[in-house]
Amino acid sequence: MRGLMQDWPLLVHKIIDHAALYHGDREVVTRSIEGPIVRTTYRQIAARARRLAGALDARGFALGDRIATLAWNSWRHLECWYGIAGIGAIYHTLNPRLHPEQIAWIAGHAQDRALFFDISFTSLVEKIAPSLPHVELFVALTDRAHLPAANIPNLVAYEDLLAEGDGTFAWKQFDENTACGLCYTSGTTGNPKGGLDTHRSNMLRAMMIAQVDAMNISCRDSILAVVPMFHANSWALGFAAPMIGAKLVMPGAKLDGASICELIESEKTTISAGVPTVWFGMLQHLVESGKQVRHMKRIVIGGAAAPRSMIQKIETELGIEVAHSWGMTEMSPVGTIGTLTAKLTELPYPEQLDYKAKQGRALFGVEMKVTDDQNRELPRDGITFGRLKVRGPAIASSYFRDEGLASFDDDGWFDTGDVATLDAEGYMSIVDRSKDVIKSGGEWISSVQIENLAVGHPSVAEAAVIGIAHPKWNERPLLVVALKPGHDCCAEDMLGFLSGKIAKWWMPDAVAFVDEIPHTATGKIQKTELRARFADFRLPN
Ligand code: AMP
Repeated sequence: MRGLMQDWPLLVHKIIDHAALYHGDREVVTRSIEGPIVRTTYRQIAARARRLAGALDARGFALGDRIATLAWNSWRHLECWYGIAGIGAIYHTLNPRLHPEQIAWIAGHAQDRALFFDISFTSLVEKIAPSLPHVELFVALTDRAHLPAANIPNLVAYEDLLAEGDGTFAWKQFDENTACGLCYTSGTTGNPKGGLDTHRSNMLRAMMIAQVDAMNISCRDSILAVVPMFHANSWALGFAAPMIGAKLVMPGAKLDGASICELIESEKTTISAGVPTVWFGMLQHLVESGKQVRHMKRIVIGGAAAPRSMIQKIETELGIEVAHSWGMTEMSPVGTIGTLTAKLTELPYPEQLDYKAKQGRALFGVEMKVTDDQNRELPRDGITFGRLKVRGPAIASSYFRDEGLASFDDDGWFDTGDVATLDAEGYMSIVDRSKDVIKSGGEWISSVQIENLAVGHPSVAEAAVIGIAHPKWNERPLLVVALKPGHDCCAEDMLGFLSGKIAKWWMPDAVAFVDEIPHTATGKIQKTELRARFADFRLPN
């Protein structure tokens, strides 16, 4: 017997309509690309998103079309998400930090029909436009006064395009499993692969992350959305904030410590989320300037491992609670958050930190298990590590255009490519990416764990560990270190610092000092580049 409840498709434009009606005056504040701070509201965003939807519909864009954005976090970018999704088209976030050729490759693979871009990317778009014959419309996210004189065909200013639309346009109706957003993964191996969210998955993920024991978002909060909309869906904040009615603060292109701290203070932000690099920048700025941040309650750190020393510093010196989080583009994207359980809050702080340094517990709607290479489930003992697999209603079932099929099994589990442990309290701890783990004498050494310890050294700005070929052990770890400006440190000092904190056979065989650790376009350590750089490195006997 079927139940007697209404069928109310989970379509994301219902979020912005709800925000307009119940949180209409709540602000969305942006540090704009043009320069000034721009203030708008959910009511205005909803009306302008409808205008955009109407304009796109009138120009013949429709269900299933891919419409790309190449933009920082801003109110206009948010309007694009809702306006594009509101006609059943798919917003496709392109990552501007990628190489232009790679951006063009991704846009070609997606067959984007239109491209919306920030004017700071004009020369980039000019360069790639000839390789994008499928793009019929280029839209500069600005008004006519700021429209750049550029050699880009079919170029219009966003505000002019909006003027073509109607603020009362009726959203299109379709099934909640319709594709909504497309985002390609970093592609550290092989070509990038497209994660294709649905309206339903975005709605469910937003409900999941807003919960008290997840990001803890209330309509009284002011959220600084540091995590970019072009990477992993801004961790669903673009949906969760208007759903709950929280104020949303968009930092635009300026993600340095000083600019971030300025927004935290001026907009009294209470919650933020971003990768560790951003919080390194914030901490450094606060030390150098002697300034304080006074309103922040909670910072969610993810995308790469948050070192224990960073979590401790933010919590004890700034009085801001840290929640460590893990996820992936393919999970739209948040999978775990490290809020402490009632039982663990009774532990002494150093023991609480042991748990906080792990990547957290699964949100409801994320099934997790670790398996060996034969797909046998491994014990949840916090020690045994294996391949981390996930399943749930907001997790990819396949990649766009059927790439990467090997990551999905017949029982619906997605192999994350991460190596992890699960413990008896439900906390997951990332040991490594499966391709980065160092295989020494048949045993695995976690590069991530050594890196996290190394950055606890007072002179270390950043650290990376890679495997170097070894005739006897197959691979041995090399620790690559970038020092803080003005600091000095030698290999013996570094190894002495690690000694006693890790198993003897995990100790790096050598330490190399570099000016800077290379990063990928999504802020992760670029191990491929480091491996290439140290390909001829010889370990001492
Ligand atoms: P992306 O899809 O670009 O967000 O990358 C997802 C990958 O980033 C994951 O599979 C992990 O390897 C890594 N990652 C994300 N969050 C964390 C974290 N908190 N600690 C360690 N690695 C992480």
